[in-house]
Amino acid sequence: MRELNFESKKPLLYLVATPIGNMQEVSPRTIETLKEVGLVACEDTRVTGKFLAMLGISKPLVSLREHNEVSASNEIVAKILNGTKVAYMSDAGYPCISDPGSRLVKLALQNDINITAISGPNAALNALVASGLCEDHFYFHGFLDAKESVKLEELRKLANREETLIFYEAPHRIQKTLNAMFTILGNRKACIARELTKKHEEYIRGSLEELSQIDPETLKGEMVIIVEGSLGEIKPDINNDEIIQMVKNLVNMGLTTKDAIKKVAETTNINKNYIYKIYHVN
Ligand code: SAM
Repeated sequence: MRELNFESKKPLLYLVATPIGNMQEVSPRTIETLKEVGLVACEDTRVTGKFLAMLGISKPLVSLREHNEVSASNEIVAKILNGTKVAYMSDAGYPCISDPGSRLVKLALQNDINITAISGPNAALNALVASGLCEDHFYFHGFLDAKESVKLEELRKLANREETLIFYEAPHRIQKTLNAMFTILGNRKACIARELTKKHEEYIRGSLEELSQIDPETLKGEMVIIVEGSLGEIKPDINNDEIIQMVKNLVNMGLTTKDAIKKVAETTNINKNYIYKIYHVN
């Protein structure tokens, strides 16, 4: 059934974007919405409590984060159905974008609650549009897995995508991630967008090789990595288990591990260092 959000009698859940570091990006509509609701559900009540205090707004807060997403979503939906107006905010940017909120949205929809989003900042889009690598199409990946072997596999699956790639990363993992990107994706153009909208905002543009050589001590704060899409070189679609099995088969046939890896690299056209890494990590 079709229904206009603001003309419907159905309850409405407000997904409210939060600044990613600059309070001047709070819109009048955000303030109006937060004043209007009876309850603010949020990722971290301390973070959102401070944010509301800066706006001079005081509201009851309830926490919905990754570890209690199911139970908290149930409680919040029950409150909305009982007539409470609820806004949901994550700590920064949009809810649901590498942040909790998706379960709440799905559960609300199942319970015939309408959803609206109050526009605001998002780190991925700021980084993309200013990177110089924004094309017609882009692919948002968010965080790669922290485990090295899984991260390498994830990157291999992305290697043939022609869209510009967008990643979120934490400073303590940036160097390993840039090395992995250079190894798997090759020497593409890329951009690190750091501390967006804040005083120390910085865009570092260069090749993945250049970016991977930057002293990680100088890459602090929050950051997004934008990487140019594939330029058409097709990488074979084989998973890590199959690659490792190929190496094992050759070792069983009497080849040294080094020669087996070299042979698999030649036949699959997969980077030798990559095969070495996954073979020895597993
Ligand atoms: N929901 C958020 C959004 O819409 O952008 C993303 C939240 S995610 C948990 C946090 C990650 O977003 C950070 O690790 C970083 O990669 C990126 N991020 C958030 N704020 C940023 C900023 N001011 N500058 C650069 N990256 C930022």
